[in-house]
Amino acid sequence: MRKFILFIVILAGLTHYLAERGVASAQAVRTQACALPFRSFATAVRTQCSKAGAGDDILEIRSALGRLTRAGVLEPGELDDVEIAWCPLDEATGMAPDAGHIYLHPDLRGHPRQTAITLAHEAFHIRQYRMAEPGEFECAYSLAFVACRGCQDRDHPMERAAFEFEDRARRMLGR
Ligand SMILES: [Zn+2]
Repeated sequence: MRKFILFIVILAGLTHYLAERGVASAQAVRTQACALPFRSFATAVRTQCSKAGAGDDILEIRSALGRLTRAGVLEPGELDDVEIAWCPLDEATGMAPDAGHIYLHPDLRGHPRQTAITLAHEAFHIRQYRMAEPGEFECAYSLAFVACRGCQDRDHPMERAAFEFEDRARRMLGR
């Protein structure tokens, strides 16, 4: 009898364990599927930007990064593993298509303050990627984007946070 009860207890535990794992992995699968369109878009952007020969002349980018770090907007070394490059983006002055890339529109060149502020905005998106589980940022961003009918302004909650960080950067950088 005891053995039987023990068996039931183990079986119940095992079922519970498998159910939990099942739910967790189904959730992960859903997140990855949900992240897919964003990721294909990100791949297209990276391809376009690498063709743009964006790697040249990053002096202004380095200087913007230094400025943000000295002002305390960014932590020292925060973007060390992020490639930051110029890229003529469509309808955007900056973009972080994934946790490892930031692109800035060449129109910003010659405008060091605006370059730094745009970089701060994109750096905040990098923080959002880093805080999320794989695929979570892409999924949440896409869902919010659809919910607000394609907005990328302060009506989009993840953009609002980035714009608020941008505002803070503006204050911390001074004039
Ligand atoms: Zn943004």
